[in-house]
Amino acid sequence: MPAYVYDFVDGDKDMKDLLGGKGANLAEMTRMGLPVPPGFTISTEACRAYLRTGDFPAGLSEEVDQHLTRIEGATGKRLGDPADPLLLSVRSGGKFSMPGMMETILDIGLTDVSVLGLAVQSGDDRFAWDSYRRLIQMFGRTVCDVPGELFEAELTLARRDAKVATDAELDTGHLQDLVEAYKKVFHVHTGRDFPQSPHEQLFLAIRSVFSSWNADRAVLYRRQERIPHDLGTAVNVMAMVFGNRGPDSGTGVAFTRDPATGLPGVYGDYLQNAQGEDVVAGIRNTVGLAELEKLDPASFTELTAIMARLEEHYRDLCDIEFTIERGKLWMLQTRVGKRTAAAAFVIAAQLIEEGLITPDEALQRVTGEQLAKLMFPAFDRDAAPAPLTTGVAASPGAAVGAIVFDSAHAAAADGPVILVRRETNPDDLPGMIAAQGILTSRGGKTSHAAVVARGMGKTCVCGAEQLAIDPEAGTVTVNGTVLHAGDVISLDGSTGKVYPGAVPVRPSPVVRYFEGDLAAGADPLVAAVDRLMAHADATRRLGVHANADTAADAARARRFGATGVGLCRTEHQFLGERRELVERLILAEDETGRDAALAALLPLQRADFTALFEAMDGMPVTVRLIDPPLHEFLPPLEDLTARVARAEALGTDPGRDGELLTAVRRMHEANPMLGLRGVRLGLVVPGLFAMQVRAVAEAAAQRVAAGGDPRPEIMVPLVATVQELETVRLEAESVLHAVPGAPPIRIGTMIEVPRAALTAGEIAHAAEFFSFGTNDLTQMTWGFSRDDVEGAFFGRYLELGIFAASPFETIDAGGVGELVRTAVERGRAARPDLTVGVCGEHGGDPASVRYFHAAGLDYVSCSPFRVPVARLEAGRAAC
Ligand code: ADP
Ligand code: MG
Ligand code: MG
Repeated sequence: MPAYVYDFVDGDKDMKDLLGGKGANLAEMTRMGLPVPPGFTISTEACRAYLRTGDFPAGLSEEVDQHLTRIEGATGKRLGDPADPLLLSVRSGGKFSMPGMMETILDIGLTDVSVLGLAVQSGDDRFAWDSYRRLIQMFGRTVCDVPGELFEAELTLARRDAKVATDAELDTGHLQDLVEAYKKVFHVHTGRDFPQSPHEQLFLAIRSVFSSWNADRAVLYRRQERIPHDLGTAVNVMAMVFGNRGPDSGTGVAFTRDPATGLPGVYGDYLQNAQGEDVVAGIRNTVGLAELEKLDPASFTELTAIMARLEEHYRDLCDIEFTIERGKLWMLQTRVGKRTAAAAFVIAAQLIEEGLITPDEALQRVTGEQLAKLMFPAFDRDAAPAPLTTGVAASPGAAVGAIVFDSAHAAAADGPVILVRRETNPDDLPGMIAAQGILTSRGGKTSHAAVVARGMGKTCVCGAEQLAIDPEAGTVTVNGTVLHAGDVISLDGSTGKVYPGAVPVRPSPVVRYFEGDLAAGADPLVAAVDRLMAHADATRRLGVHANADTAADAARARRFGATGVGLCRTEHQFLGERRELVERLILAEDETGRDAALAALLPLQRADFTALFEAMDGMPVTVRLIDPPLHEFLPPLEDLTARVARAEALGTDPGRDGELLTAVRRMHEANPMLGLRGVRLGLVVPGLFAMQVRAVAEAAAQRVAAGGDPRPEIMVPLVATVQELETVRLEAESVLHAVPGAPPIRIGTMIEVPRAALTAGEIAHAAEFFSFGTNDLTQMTWGFSRDDVEGAFFGRYLELGIFAASPFETIDAGGVGELVRTAVERGRAARPDLTVGVCGEHGGDPASVRYFHAAGLDYVSCSPFRVPVARLEAGRAAC
């Protein structure tokens, strides 16, 4: 019979699959000899069995009873003992942290009888009755679905009757009345009395934690965070310790370093004389951990020593939940803490310095997505007006949007919004996902809003106490200013400042560092990025090139660390004022007209290339011959038709418009993506490719003459069969030979048609390099065009789980990826020195970069801004 229940002394931190993160770490802390209340964990396997059948698997109840006996032995108390009752907490905890998403029930074991025993035993009536009312409230809400507002309403009434401001001021008599009122609420809503058997309470609580795995908000959170739905949660049952036993008690949350910046120091929030989720829920305002040092120096010293041990043990930032009961410190939870992107870099670099981790490990602790986030612009503080107020800088970023006061409006809004709440709770999740940023008036860095926002990479300012938020009236008042729903505000998540209106943004320091405007030592974040990028570059095998059409783009890409241009799209050079020349080419009636148009284009193209080769001196520049269908350079059919009709109506000559209209009609294609474009165009319009090849060769020759080191390559798009490439190649070679002084220029092809991937062995005979055009390859492999489908059904497909991610963002390993691998293999078999790269959008996508590394490509090419991301991910892939 497999064991479903593990005592804390029997587990360890690597058993997360079975014990969940919370259970595994409680076991680890127990092993380390830290002060953890005794307890046990019911495994995720038991949860999965429960969710399958709707009932406990055979043997589970007995195992729970056996392990309960061990807690009773360790504490010297018995569950249900009327004189000295053992109280328990029942806590959820899956493999991946889902803060606040599932249930926790505290103070299990109190009944009408044992509450009296607890009062006598503790010598504290108030504490006993406060615990009992908390149990009925929490149990009613989470186990029996009694609406939480019903209890809240009773609590408000009790405070009003007692004429006090806070719960802490309610005395024993008030609390006894409140318990009676709560029991009535419970009865009315459930049709039964509050269970008076502690054993029944325990087992109902366990069931409800199991079921909370499938609560709507938990399902939504998992979808958002891409956590699988079939893991199930573990259940942790442990002896209660009490933070609500007077001023020498309390509860808190702490981080071993600042989770927003990564800088060293002890961070946390503490709430005196409080229990359970009071801190995380941000219900009362907490004090900083430094305050605890004054309130209880001994516990503070013990806590900081434990935090140092935990950080050394886990070799990472840890977050911690603790409770102090009458001066005795208890550890209730720890885990490797969530952090902002900036903190991830700073912490990883610092842990290398501290000798706790190797540079390879440090690289695994940061991601390309995080680096991309750090490259976003931030507010231009010089251009910002005086802030309305300043709250806690809980999750960085620059968010601008219209005020909304609830989740429904946030989710339904058209434009960007800021969700403004007193505090958030898990029901606000849809609104938090929809909003640009989150602003609350209560709670610290560890409040629900802060923790969830950091996890989602959303901007958040919390605990802005000066805000008077009135959701019913739809207003928020701050220092005399009244703002309404729909008013635009700006949130700076790095400073906690809240501004009126839309504040302009400025580039990130990380971008300025890559640009060379900011020295690596300028601040801890830039220094950390510099350290980790250096290691990524030293480690990676994959080259990183950039997609750049102009010298300016290429120069920036080079500053960002690109060592080549993997894709120069020449058609972009045909736009603007040169359009007319292309029109002339299209309209040319004979060879003379065509040659004249081409001759006019040649010097312009040549000048573009000269500048590009100069910017990329000494590095390969892959020039792709013209790719899109020619009609893209002509005015749209509707415009032309209207213009010609107008001219005719006025009796004037439509002139050139008439000719253009004829041409556009002639070139109309039902499906241009699969029409006359790429190599097909080059083979149909005589002289076009030859002109481009000549411009490349002449530009290179000019650079050589000027003492430069140009390394152009010519790339033929959309090849499906080797005959196409051979035909273009013959023509190109004869042009190249005719240009004196040109360096050797390699000729290769894009692989973007499935047939080309499958016949790569033949194509390689005519190609010196391949570059995978994964955008087209994805479209043609799936048989859908990106422009048509993203809005039409991708959302639904993602929802249904048919895609885990859009195949245009992350390479589809099973289909498109197989074509890439096949082509690499066949191409290299035919030509061992074949160079292979990729130049689609996927070249800058972290997961795709790792895939291309594994597929053995030589380089990826991406937009200049993604170059650092690709370098980092290529480094991570190689270590
Ligand atoms: P979450 O996963 O949402 O953080 P937890 O299971 O950590 O939920 O429980 C929330 C809070 O309940 C904890 O932070 C802690 O303050 C309190 N709590 C849990 N177990 C105990 C216990 N044995 N004694 C006292 N307080 C507890
Ligand atoms: Mg917790
Ligand atoms: Mg293409």
